[in-house]
Amino acid sequence: MEEAREVRTTCPYCGVGCGVLAGVAADRTTTVRGDPDHPANFGRLCSKGAALGETLGLDGRLLYPEVHGSQASWDEALDLVAEKFSRAIAEHGPDSVAFYVSGQLLTEDYYVANKLMKGFIGSGNIDTNSRLCMASSVAGHRRAFGEDIVPGVYADFECADLIVLTGSNTAWCHPVLYQRMLAARRERGTRIVVIDPRRTATADECDLHLALDPGTDVLLFNGLLAHLAQAGKTDAVFIHDFTSGFDAAASLAGADAPSIARVAKGCGLAVADVQAFYDLFAGIERTVTVYSQGVNQSAHGTDKVNAIINCHLATGRIGKPGMGPFSVTGQPNAMGGREVGGLANQLAAHMDFADEANIDRVSRFWKAPDIARRAGLKAVDMFQAVADGRIKSLWVMGTNPAVSMPDASRVRAALSKCDFVVVSDVTRTDTTRYADVLLPAAGWGEKDGTVTNSERRLSRQRPFLPTPGETKADWRIICEVAARMGFGDAFDYHAPAEIFREHAALSAFENDGKRLFDIGDLADLGDADYGAFMPLHWPAPEQREEQTRLFADGHFPTSDGRARFVPVRQEATAFTVDADYPLALNTGRLRDQWHTMTRTGNVPRLMANAPEPAVDIHPADAAAYHLKDGDLARLSTRFGFVRARVRLTEAQRRGQAFMPMHWSGLFAAKAAAGLLSSPVTDPHSGQPELKHVPARIVRENTG
Ligand code: SF4
Repeated sequence: MEEAREVRTTCPYCGVGCGVLAGVAADRTTTVRGDPDHPANFGRLCSKGAALGETLGLDGRLLYPEVHGSQASWDEALDLVAEKFSRAIAEHGPDSVAFYVSGQLLTEDYYVANKLMKGFIGSGNIDTNSRLCMASSVAGHRRAFGEDIVPGVYADFECADLIVLTGSNTAWCHPVLYQRMLAARRERGTRIVVIDPRRTATADECDLHLALDPGTDVLLFNGLLAHLAQAGKTDAVFIHDFTSGFDAAASLAGADAPSIARVAKGCGLAVADVQAFYDLFAGIERTVTVYSQGVNQSAHGTDKVNAIINCHLATGRIGKPGMGPFSVTGQPNAMGGREVGGLANQLAAHMDFADEANIDRVSRFWKAPDIARRAGLKAVDMFQAVADGRIKSLWVMGTNPAVSMPDASRVRAALSKCDFVVVSDVTRTDTTRYADVLLPAAGWGEKDGTVTNSERRLSRQRPFLPTPGETKADWRIICEVAARMGFGDAFDYHAPAEIFREHAALSAFENDGKRLFDIGDLADLGDADYGAFMPLHWPAPEQREEQTRLFADGHFPTSDGRARFVPVRQEATAFTVDADYPLALNTGRLRDQWHTMTRTGNVPRLMANAPEPAVDIHPADAAAYHLKDGDLARLSTRFGFVRARVRLTEAQRRGQAFMPMHWSGLFAAKAAAGLLSSPVTDPHSGQPELKHVPARIVRENTG
């Protein structure tokens, strides 16, 4: 038998960004193994990554364009998209159209989508499903550092003596990073603290688990800041030389959290556990604090992020090996999307709309005189604008908002009412049923481009399969629409390498050193070098990583060069439990599933562990609500209801419930967690509160 040819590529699931060697036989059968040379995973893969080869069948694939449910030619479909968007813009202005895109898109796709909407259509209305994932970290970074910078690298996990995991079920959501952390624990005794209301798989292996009440993170970290200040454990030299605002932040933290007893009471924790955490943090210099959706997905997510960063700034634990606040991204290219400016409040290349000079700079670079001059609508507001008719034409790229957006019933109603909906995707989803035009996109293994992982490392996704049917790369679809809208000269790309070079050049264009995102060295990358591109960690090539560790010199990209403490105070969650809705509902991922299961849901071995959605509740709550393990129940919130089996577990605290976010109408009718969640958002980041929604549960009458 002919040996399979191996192609070096990157996993398309989570933000760890593991390297994959994909071996493909002539009949499309694909085997995968971890790339031993990729610095994110050194050969490891998790259950999802290891099953990638089983997701590449063509069942359910979109293979041909469709117009109003009938197969159509590309010309027919693209002409209609261009005509509808152009007409809406002519009649109602550029803000009457919008793109809702995805952290699944490659950087090159993202770049041209952003360039088309902001540069040439002239609206800021492009936002991404990454808004639901890490927008609070982006906003928190900008408040503290002046730019959206993740300071750490994965190698920090191997030289930290303390890893604090807060709002992160790392064992399931970033499994390979967790494996690296456990290896450090085994080999050098790294201590691990887990802060999470649930006793997750991550908490199964840790030195201390703080099962705090949902939404009390700011209080816990304000208490830590106050404790560090009172105990003389701050780095006075670092604070003096490199930061501003310490006194105000420490003063507010002290007022908010005057004693460990008050923190413990407010967070629902034992005093001894809070004391133990504070002693560990105060006493161990090499500390990394990893945080994820449990922090970000909150109406106060940005304040939570800054409460964490404040503690690192106060101890000078940033910009040094084994130290720093570390936001890990959920999606494979959430970071690449941030780099190109794919959030509605960003412009491009880590520039935003606040500075007119940025707008003029990007306008000149793109030769786009009609560039957008203000931020567009963030995800929740964008779908509200669809609902009330302000947005006439919407293009959804590679994401499934009919399931994943909060208050999904309202989103579905909005999509039904919208004048014109385009969906480009790899498979049919709950969202494709609302499309006037469906555009078949190339999938993983067929696409060619780059992604950036949580530690700012650029890697290549390379094709190893032919594109099936009439599918096309996303960047090509976008450029063909742009050309039909009259912008062909600016979108005349023939290969993703050309787009990447332009993206790199923009990052360096008139960059006077104030912005750290600068990959201008790559603007001259030849096609062959792009093809052979090995994972690279910006802002410096691998071999110079140590010398160019971000913030190592204590200089931050703020107007005065200093990092900013941000005074924050504990606020109540957007909704509180009451007699009608007595349970605090949390949602999140399972180990073996990805997003709305359009790929992982087709792999029997990934479905085996959790074949249907379940609501986790504590046995005492189950008794109070007359429920038994396995009962079918109706879980309701103010926003909707779902039916699911009840699972009793003492990992869940009393008064709280957990439901996975993955199931959709494709897999289990009436079980989409998005139907339950609240559209309330953080005022700084626009990120919805998905971790705390008051709910009630009753046994479903199955008779
Ligand atoms: Fe893929 Fe993330 Fe698993 Fe790595 S840890 S194999 S990137 S899903």
